[in-house]
Amino acid sequence: MTNPVILCSGMLCGTVPATGKSTRLPRRTTTKGKALRFLITGGAGFIGSHLAEALLAGGHRVHILDDLSTGSMDNIRHLKTDPGFGYTIETCASTSVVAELVDEADIVYHLAAAVGVELIVESPVRTIETNVHCTEVVLAQACKKRKPVFLASTSEVYGKSTSFPFREDGDLVMGASTTGRWSYACSKAIDEFLTLAYWKERRLPTVVARLFNTVGPRQTGRYGMVVPRFVGQALAGRPLTVYGDGTQTRCFCHVDDVVRALVDLMLLGELAYGEVFNIGSQEEISMLGLAHRVRDLTESGSDIEIIPYGEAYEEGFEDMPRRYPDIRKIGSAVGWTPQHSLDDILQDVVNFQQAEAAIV
Ligand code: UDP
Repeated sequence: MTNPVILCSGMLCGTVPATGKSTRLPRRTTTKGKALRFLITGGAGFIGSHLAEALLAGGHRVHILDDLSTGSMDNIRHLKTDPGFGYTIETCASTSVVAELVDEADIVYHLAAAVGVELIVESPVRTIETNVHCTEVVLAQACKKRKPVFLASTSEVYGKSTSFPFREDGDLVMGASTTGRWSYACSKAIDEFLTLAYWKERRLPTVVARLFNTVGPRQTGRYGMVVPRFVGQALAGRPLTVYGDGTQTRCFCHVDDVVRALVDLMLLGELAYGEVFNIGSQEEISMLGLAHRVRDLTESGSDIEIIPYGEAYEEGFEDMPRRYPDIRKIGSAVGWTPQHSLDDILQDVVNFQQAEAAIV
């Protein structure tokens, strides 16, 4: 790396968004001015590719490990010409590969996981094995080399909790093991326990973040994600498929906001280790409301179709009726609040899908 850079988030160099309340910002404990080497497992995925882009833009080096199970070369093709970028196509269940790549990194972002409710319902074995085993391998190798690890977890771990807003120290309420959906939540909860245990017992620096419905350009609707799916349906003039009765709500957060949080949390250093943070927006919308919003934005003539959960996923499927995060903890730690409104997010996804359609 010829030009050392000031260590900062790729998008918010030296600035802290106003949170509207007094926040005491801890001092960063990492060395300023040093370019770092990052390993991102699952880096060819939607969030990983945006994270790689931001870190490279900040002057750091990035290596991606991805087996392309849900990620895609299309997400990282534009990064291949950057001299600070490298990638390995392999599963992170491969101990020898992980060992070598961890050795070459300063910080590890472990994002590789089975994602998408449809995929999880269809392939529960793969979901559980990928989520649990890959995390075991990454943590064990990182521990040997004493490299800090960030674990991407999910708001799904709150399960059936009704304590709104969801707080990081609140109870996780799981459904029955006979209902497949909860295997995802349980596998990610095990990942969290293991990651925190490595900090507690072995003093491996680790940070856990629970992401609440991250959306934006490059996300595919193939595995069930509702925003790219509704936008694709509206642009194609096909019916928008609202599952259940459409009263379930979500808070969608722009991937650029999420990446900024991921970068800032790891650069915070010691003060973030052993902690769990929610990362999400507090702009809440029902799925029926979302369908109308997308249809209006795209001026589409699509119908809105209500599809029972049993038909959309499987008989006995249980949804989370609401997911609303408390984000005060990350706000006081790094001054983070989301900067993008839902309208911004939807417009970005529409622009992306239109541009993609123009290329094909
Ligand atoms: N959903 C929907 N239509 C679709 C895909 C999803 O109504 O075509 C609903 C889904 O049942 C859930 C919400 O949208 O209530 C968010 O789904 P997604 O898979 O994006 O994320 P989740 O919050 O379930 O992880």
